[in-house]
Amino acid sequence: MNPVAPSVRVRLALWHAGTLALIIVAFSAGMFFFVQEWLYRDLDRQLGSELTAVAAAQRESVEELRELETQVGFAFFEVTQDGKLLHRTADWARSGLGAAGLTPAPRSWKSPEGRWYRVAGMPGPSVHAVVARRETFLRGTLRTLAMGLSIGVPIAIGLALAGGYFLAGRVLEPIGAMADRARRITADSLGERLPVGDPRDEFGRLATVFNDALSRVQGSFEQLRRFTADASHELRTPLTAMRSVGEVALQKSLDPAACRDAIGSMLEEVERLTRLVESLLTLTRAEAGAIRLQSESVDLRALAADVADHLDVLADEKEQRLRVEPGEPVFADCDAGILRQGLTNLLHNAIKYTPARGEIRVVVGSPSASLASIEIHDTGPGIPPEHRARIFERFYRVDEGRSRDAGGLGLGLPIALWAVKANGGSIELESEEGEGSLFRIVLPRKREGPV
Ligand code: ADP
Repeated sequence: MNPVAPSVRVRLALWHAGTLALIIVAFSAGMFFFVQEWLYRDLDRQLGSELTAVAAAQRESVEELRELETQVGFAFFEVTQDGKLLHRTADWARSGLGAAGLTPAPRSWKSPEGRWYRVAGMPGPSVHAVVARRETFLRGTLRTLAMGLSIGVPIAIGLALAGGYFLAGRVLEPIGAMADRARRITADSLGERLPVGDPRDEFGRLATVFNDALSRVQGSFEQLRRFTADASHELRTPLTAMRSVGEVALQKSLDPAACRDAIGSMLEEVERLTRLVESLLTLTRAEAGAIRLQSESVDLRALAADVADHLDVLADEKEQRLRVEPGEPVFADCDAGILRQGLTNLLHNAIKYTPARGEIRVVVGSPSASLASIEIHDTGPGIPPEHRARIFERFYRVDEGRSRDAGGLGLGLPIALWAVKANGGSIELESEEGEGSLFRIVLPRKREGPV
């Protein structure tokens, strides 16, 4: 920022005063020239009628001309015939107007003493008549007008500058208040908001938009804080378990079998930690957009059958029936590896939460001409309505104890959701408490097979 740049308030006031000054000066000059023109026209009209009167009197007699001179306020004049003077008023001779010359159009003439006269002539074939009047009154009026304007215009410009400065201050007041408040907002006071005067005007809209942005930043901050707290908590649990197993093993003199047992349970915790760190890494990289998708034409039925095949051992352990319904291949353009990760998490959950000897069905189909779907039906406990909106959040579990016992980290669904969304799809959930759940992956369908 330029340290000597004038403030917006000063700039606004200067622009305002500058524009007004231009208008006032142009208006005043226009008015001055209009008055001047009007006064001269009036004077010339008077001179014209006096010239006509002089010409008429000359046609009568020299006596008539003398009589004209006696009329109060009549112009000075001189009449000659064939170069011979017929009549010249006393003032004419006194003012030295003889040197003014004769032109038909009225014009201003300055006498050697510095007096201004308006002179108009009527050159005839033998008779020449010239009339003149002093411009003293006219020039006096114009001088007074010019003086009035030269005092009034600067005062008006000064007032415009002061008024503009005051008005700009009033208009910019909300900006100052916003800046003061914004300066006080830190990471610890993200709940504060900028003052919104009138939400319909420009400043009100600016403050509202800024406040909305603040709300989003606050939301992200809180999410980040919660995530850090949850992640630390999740990391601490296996570490504490490992420490206590280690301490107990150290205190007792263990036989080789008990030693193996202790190392075995420590390795289980290490395995849990590894999965946790890997899942966190996947989510962090996904969020940073660091994972590049490689789209290809994928047969969803074949993919579902493959994932089910891999997880079949887990279902077998619980004597569950896991089957993929037969049918035609359904294709979608997606990254097979990432979609497989999402599908694995959903199917793994179905196996985890369905009790022994339950049933898990995978149905691949196309709900419409443009959509493909993979449905995972289970006969587990279902998900209560109040938890449905939140189970896709990180570390959110409906039943913390049960999830942990089943080796759950609370990251399976967020990763599944990301995997499906990254491929342009969505996950729908239908669940009947006590009856089971249905997770449906919906993706844009590809009509033809692999290319
Ligand atoms: P977890 O590692 O705990 O399974 P997830 O993110 O995969 O974490 O799931 C979040 C929570 O959603 C689980 O703790 C569980 O309570 C609930 N949940 C997920 N899938 C199912 C399901 N098929 N049946 C019942 N509850 C489920």
